[in-house]
Amino acid sequence: MSTQKLPAAPEPLPAEVFDSHCHLDIMVGNRQASSGDPVAQAAQAAQASVQGILDEARAVGVTRLVTIGYDLPSSRWNAETAALHPDVYAGVAVHPNEAHASTPETLAEIERLARLPQVRAVGETGLDYYRDWASKEDQHASFRAHIEIAKRTGKALVIHDREAHDDVLRVLAEQGAPEVVVFHSFSGDAEMAKQCVNAGYFMSFSGPVTYKNAGYLREAARVAPSELILVETDAPYLPPTPHRGKPNAPYLIPLTLRCLAEVKEIGLADLAAAVSANGETVFGSW
Ligand SMILES: [Zn+2]
Repeated sequence: MSTQKLPAAPEPLPAEVFDSHCHLDIMVGNRQASSGDPVAQAAQAAQASVQGILDEARAVGVTRLVTIGYDLPSSRWNAETAALHPDVYAGVAVHPNEAHASTPETLAEIERLARLPQVRAVGETGLDYYRDWASKEDQHASFRAHIEIAKRTGKALVIHDREAHDDVLRVLAEQGAPEVVVFHSFSGDAEMAKQCVNAGYFMSFSGPVTYKNAGYLREAARVAPSELILVETDAPYLPPTPHRGKPNAPYLIPLTLRCLAEVKEIGLADLAAAVSANGETVFGSW
């Protein structure tokens, strides 16, 4: 990734906004933390790179972000990093693709991390029927356990839903959803968006809403009221148009937000204000 040329910075936003979902640890190439390095040390060593990412984002109006864990080392790294930056919050969880690693010991540690003040989300968790890295059985058990952790800790539940819309909605209903639920990188159509609206779930839109062939996402965005919309990069993945194939970063949020504002026929500043207010509802005050 480091050999690729980074996309140019977009025009700055007229109002501040935040990135509801990115992976700072993957962006700074810190996956080696997963191999057992002392995580706190690894997080501190990466802080110059993290500050660079935050500065670039701030320059275009993206002043805060949530960095999301996908396994225990990643969750620890992100919690450590959030503790070092007032503009950064963390999410902690075992990703559905890693669900076989959701042992009772790991889940207990995720819950301990979830109680930290800078950790504002339990996620990303959910179901992924696109990849079969973990069995459906393991994924369901892990998802249900994370729902309970979110309820016990009072933190937002951040959901990864890939080709599993019906089962994700069903498990949430069966298990009893936490107070705040976010569908990260929302991938449903207008019909799914209506179900989320009825349940009061937040929908976080990412780069794909800008893709030419993703009209169904724009229809979903039209259905989603401003009160339930978030915006995210999922960086380093899913860069918005015209930067597909390049590494994504929080400073590219304006491209996705502009697309959403056009689709919803809302002023950019108004949408940014709504998204920021939603951020306070979902993740608490910054
Ligand atoms: Zn993600």
